[in-house]
Amino acid sequence: MIKIIDKEFVPYLSEEEIKDRVKEMAAEISAAYEGKKPLLVSVLNGSFIFTADLIRTIDTPIEVTFIRVASYEALQTTGKVKEILGLKENVFDRDILILEDIVDTGTTLEHLLDAFKDLGTKSIKVATLLHKPDAQEKAEKPDFIGFKIPDKFVVGYGLDYEGMGRELKEIYQLR
Ligand code: 5GP
Repeated sequence: MIKIIDKEFVPYLSEEEIKDRVKEMAAEISAAYEGKKPLLVSVLNGSFIFTADLIRTIDTPIEVTFIRVASYEALQTTGKVKEILGLKENVFDRDILILEDIVDTGTTLEHLLDAFKDLGTKSIKVATLLHKPDAQEKAEKPDFIGFKIPDKFVVGYGLDYEGMGRELKEIYQLR
């Protein structure tokens, strides 16, 4: 058991389990994109470790870039507006693979997919390391999923709790 700030976490996915599954995902992705040179779009901050490990086991040519998603309450509307920040590449007519650390409600993903479709991408798919059950009811589903996990807060392997815990090699679950 570990303590981060005020919360206790228990080991959930080991370094070995994550490594093996990421390798399998890389093989699935390599097969799906052979000869296509996709642009992998990693969503910061949480996806940076997953991205680094995944791309080093992908064995077909790819490009990789990083974006952030800004989330704010618009003054005129009731819903939350999400905006893509930092995308410098031209994505028109390109095969895009979004890399996410975790899809929870799926709201972030829905907005991202809408935004990318507006940019005239050739194809757009999603790979997420973790997937929570709430997202399973949404229309937009990730195409590549590492682990389906229960609806409990997790940290480690890039994911944080209040900015802490990203450096952990394993994934821990809130006790
Ligand atoms: P969604 O829009 O799918 O509900 O939210 C996705 C975002 O919520 C993720 O990118 C992540 O930042 C955050 N999130 C959701 N569940 C967890 C969790 O269990 N642990 C951490 N660290 N972040 C989470």
